[in-house]
Amino acid sequence: MTMDATHNPRAESWVESANGTDTDFPIQNLPFARFRRKRDEAWRVGVAIGDDVLDLQQAGVLEDADSGSVMALSATGRKALRKTLFDGLGTGSPMQARWKEALYLQSAVELGLPSEVGDYTDFYTGIYHATAVGKLLRPDTPLLPNYKWVPIGYHGRASSVAASGLKFHRPHGQVMQADGIAPQLQPTQRMDYELELAIWIANGNALGEPIPIAHAENHVWGLSLLNDWSARDVQAWEYQPLGPFLAKSFATTVSPWVVTLDALAPFRCKQRRPPGDPQPLPYLDSPANRSGGAYAIELEVWLHTAEMQRDGLAPQLLSQSNFEDAYWTLSQLVAHHTVNGCNLRAGDLLGTGTLSGPQAMQGGSLLELSQGGHNNITLDNGEIRTFLEDGDTIILRAYAERAGARRIGFGECRGTVLPARA
Ligand code: MN
Repeated sequence: MTMDATHNPRAESWVESANGTDTDFPIQNLPFARFRRKRDEAWRVGVAIGDDVLDLQQAGVLEDADSGSVMALSATGRKALRKTLFDGLGTGSPMQARWKEALYLQSAVELGLPSEVGDYTDFYTGIYHATAVGKLLRPDTPLLPNYKWVPIGYHGRASSVAASGLKFHRPHGQVMQADGIAPQLQPTQRMDYELELAIWIANGNALGEPIPIAHAENHVWGLSLLNDWSARDVQAWEYQPLGPFLAKSFATTVSPWVVTLDALAPFRCKQRRPPGDPQPLPYLDSPANRSGGAYAIELEVWLHTAEMQRDGLAPQLLSQSNFEDAYWTLSQLVAHHTVNGCNLRAGDLLGTGTLSGPQAMQGGSLLELSQGGHNNITLDNGEIRTFLEDGDTIILRAYAERAGARRIGFGECRGTVLPARA
């Protein structure tokens, strides 16, 4: 995937709101989502442009309103669709009169999941997260010996993946009591979030036929934000020996917009691997992956507590990090997932794992920022947190930015913790 006319930073749209410097959705972005104007309406597939969403069926770009028809395209087909949308939305386009009728304000529609979710796998590519969490358990050997050889992952729960905006009750689970004698069923006292990216699979592979790393990106539709909500006390008690289970399966939220790898082409970068680390096994290695398999994407976590909302205060930034610091690239995740012949399918979702940065303040979860609940975090309004309280809203944001390219935004992934059910 290379740069072309659709990446020209000077290109503008006849949709005025797409030309502001602070928009997430300039004409160089063109991310896809499913939306509906009314609750009882079927989902429609659209593309973001400034403050609006363009209905692709109504605009005559797609035959039907199914996001599957975008996902079924080959990498070449997706590139052609991007060019069609770029040309039609560009200043002076003859499509303006017709497409104007197919524009809706994003704030006036409901944005859903980008597609039905097939299988959901969560990886563990954030080496600074893995190290920080490992340190809480094993101060001398935080990283397990397999970490730099094999992309670690587990099979998550797809049914509870929900669109941004979800409000969910603090989950109950088994929690070992302080006396260490027996667990109780109780609402989690260590409600946490995880800052991640979602990798949406556009088209899969036949059972038994691995996807070679050189073809991996052809199978990826794009990226969105993902919050892997986690109940840390439940997790601590249940995770051995088979990994996370009910501590994570109660809710996962994703942002509605799928930002394509074509849109992210200007932000490709070298994979970061410190000298002295083992080289990836051949099936996880390629020249293209080394030189440009990573993506520089700025990531942010914001907290909006019930008290801030009541007092009319803005959300507070909790941490910033970058996808560039992940240990494995998305191509490596796809190649690894399928190397045993496991088939990926359109609509499958791969989570990157928590994306923390190298500094302690760059933790992508409260588990890290509070050092396992030992350190209080004092917010600007005087409130204190170690883990989330009822009424807290977490907002994930992301954008890619560099000189010579237009800034590409992801929108937001939002979710709110409600009190536990009685
Ligand atoms: Mn996770």
